[in-house]
Amino acid sequence: MIRRALNSLRTLVVLLVLAAVTPALILILYTASEQRGAAEDHVQAEALRFARIASAQQQRFIEGARQLLVALAKLPEVRLAHGEECTSAFADLLGAYPFYANLGVIDAKGMIFCSALPFNRPLSAAHRTYFQRALATREFAVGDYQIGNITRKATINFGQPVLDADGAAHAVVFAAMDLEWLNHLAAEANMPTGSSLTVIDRQGAVLVRYPESEGWVGRRVADEGFLRTVLAQGEGVTTARQPDGVEHLVAFTPLSQVPQAGYAYVSIGIPRETAFAHADKTLSRNLAGLGLVWVLALAAAWAGCDVFLLRRVNAIVAATRRLSAGDLTARTGLPSDDSELGQLAKAFDEMATSLQRQTAAVAHQATHDLLTQLPNRALLHDHLEQAVKLAQREQTTVALLMLDINLFKEINDTLSHRNGDLLLQQVGPRLRRALRESDLIARLGGDEFAVLLPGTDAEQAAVVAQKVLDVFQEPFELGDATVAVGAGIGIAVYPVHGDSADQIMQRADVAMYVAKEAGNEYFVYTAARDHYDPDRLTLISDLRRAIDNNQLFLQYQPKIDIHAGRTVGVEALLRWQHPDRGLVPPDTFIQLAEHAGLIKPLTLWVLTTALRQCRTWHDAGLSIPVAVNLSARSLQDPGLVDQVAAIIHHADVAPQALELEITESVVMADPQRALEILTRLHTMGVRMSVDDFGTGHSSLTYLKRLPVQSIKIDRSFVGPMVTNAGDAVIVRSIIELAHTLGFKVIAEGVETRETWDHLAQLGCNEAQGYYVSRPLAADALTTWLAESAWPVGPSTSDVQAKP
Ligand code: C2E
Ligand code: CA
Ligand code: CA
Repeated sequence: MIRRALNSLRTLVVLLVLAAVTPALILILYTASEQRGAAEDHVQAEALRFARIASAQQQRFIEGARQLLVALAKLPEVRLAHGEECTSAFADLLGAYPFYANLGVIDAKGMIFCSALPFNRPLSAAHRTYFQRALATREFAVGDYQIGNITRKATINFGQPVLDADGAAHAVVFAAMDLEWLNHLAAEANMPTGSSLTVIDRQGAVLVRYPESEGWVGRRVADEGFLRTVLAQGEGVTTARQPDGVEHLVAFTPLSQVPQAGYAYVSIGIPRETAFAHADKTLSRNLAGLGLVWVLALAAAWAGCDVFLLRRVNAIVAATRRLSAGDLTARTGLPSDDSELGQLAKAFDEMATSLQRQTAAVAHQATHDLLTQLPNRALLHDHLEQAVKLAQREQTTVALLMLDINLFKEINDTLSHRNGDLLLQQVGPRLRRALRESDLIARLGGDEFAVLLPGTDAEQAAVVAQKVLDVFQEPFELGDATVAVGAGIGIAVYPVHGDSADQIMQRADVAMYVAKEAGNEYFVYTAARDHYDPDRLTLISDLRRAIDNNQLFLQYQPKIDIHAGRTVGVEALLRWQHPDRGLVPPDTFIQLAEHAGLIKPLTLWVLTTALRQCRTWHDAGLSIPVAVNLSARSLQDPGLVDQVAAIIHHADVAPQALELEITESVVMADPQRALEILTRLHTMGVRMSVDDFGTGHSSLTYLKRLPVQSIKIDRSFVGPMVTNAGDAVIVRSIIELAHTLGFKVIAEGVETRETWDHLAQLGCNEAQGYYVSRPLAADALTTWLAESAWPVGPSTSDVQAKP
């Protein structure tokens, strides 16, 4: 947390501002200290000057005092010791000398006999130093500080001996200098406020103090160090703590130029505060100014940070977070100016826009079909799921139409894939014409489309389906070609046909196959027509992969010419070795393949494999035709004939080596088309037989019109014919009639010797069944052919050519 705060841009800017202000701070402090130094010097000089002035003044004063006393000593009243006259004369004089507290004379014994100020009892001054000195030296003398006995004031007294004619001193004239004069001097000198003037004697006693002399005078100076400095240096400047604890700058100098024992010193003390007042005032003003500047700069930086940096940085960070959380609409919302941040924001916004565009493109690609730009299966599924949920809540219905274009593969093959694409691209707009805006049209893949109709029931969906079929009636313009195609539509409705999107889709799919089987129509899902249980659906997807995964193989079952006792052909039967389910019976998966549109690749695989095997046998000296079963769907495929031709050509076998078995029901479903295809195959030289005869409703007379050479009686009649008289009758009449119409007759499902004999008796041409051999793998059959009782040979029972 703290780390983050320290790392924050704002902290950085604040620190920068601080750093920028620091030199100014240093400058200010430096200047202040210089100013203090200068102030100190100035104050010292001033104090010293003042002390000297005071001293000089004193000097002059003392000189004045000496002259005055010399003059007074000559007065007759003094010399003759006339106490009263002297006293009155001195009293008069004192008024003219305001600096003196008293004037007087002391006799040789020390008794004062004359005084300007009156005194009422005899007073001795014998102990006073000025008196003793003046007597001893017989010269002018200066005394110590003293409190006068008469004046009751702090004074310094001066004495002048009064000399006889022979030069002996018989009295001393004195003047008491009132130390108060210094106060005047100090007042006149205009000393700085707070400063004080002190006169001390050599013992450190305070003689004079200005201002507030009371309480000071007579006391010793507190600072011993100061006194020592003064006594040692005589004159100088020092600092001293005054008794009140305040630090002072003190300048001191002796009161007299000529140092004398018992002399005094004058000192001028100025509180440091006062001395530095100007410097400190400047300093604090500068500091205040700087502080203000600093605060303003900080505020500006703070606000500026917000406006110019943080707001934008935060906007970019927030947008980045939103983007990385998946919100592709995240933008900084900042104007893109020329600043670095503006550029960054711009770059971010551009990146986000391009990312959004790309993601949208990818999303579109993932949910839309590239060719038609219609929603794809995944998107349809999503919408269907939503619609089902909504319908569930609102108790309504959802219809799904699944549409498959008829003969699309043929158009693709014959008119080129380009035209196939053109057709697919026109389907969307056509469907749109038949539908409401809100209906979703999707392409599921290949030629399959779907339409989602929310809030629609089966009845309404059928009306829509008819409308769709109607718009499909119009032929499609494809390049130079104009083709008419139909479509099969399957309809499934929630909740009638299923209760989930998956179920509805699967059921619409089933309904679509049913519709396709019926031709150009729509079909509403009914459970009765549904062969598509989930198991079958997985099987279909397995089957799609079966060819590629080599899970398919062929078995061959011989056909024997009963009369000649020779093997005259083999039928190829498809096998699927499913990896999990084992061998899947062809009846099951052939039907699956037909419904799932897989029959074509399956048939081509069988044809190719069987004819290749035929070629192998031929090369081994076994010239034996191979019969291949054709499914119902194969006969609807116009490309079949060409493909068969290509495969025959490729296998390098005679067309006569191939026989195609076509079930009766297929031929009857679309006789016109079947006739067309069979005729082309026949022209090519391929032989054909009608399989499973007897199970359908075709008449042999009708079949006579087809280019078919043989009839295979269904094994459901052949198997039971020895035990069931009815079946025997059917088999006999089929054989007889077929022969009359010029068909060769093959009986399948011959399991016993009795059946074989019976068939031989009835004149049946060929027999196929377990009695002869079960279907065998190619290698096994090769061996079988070599060892069997029915050697390979030409059929003797070929029917005569039909008209
Ligand atoms: P199908 O064409 O009628 O084939 C003859 C069926 O009868 C074969 O069944 C064969 O194994 C069986 N069969 C042969 N002899 C006897 C016998 O003595 N007794 C009995 N009960 N059955 C015998 P399979 O192989 O299961 O084939 C069933 C059907 O699957 C075939 O009937 C045919 O319609 C279809 N099929 C098989 N292979 C193909 C193919 O390659 N393409 C197409 N489209 N259909 C195929
Ligand atoms: Ca068959
Ligand atoms: Ca059959």
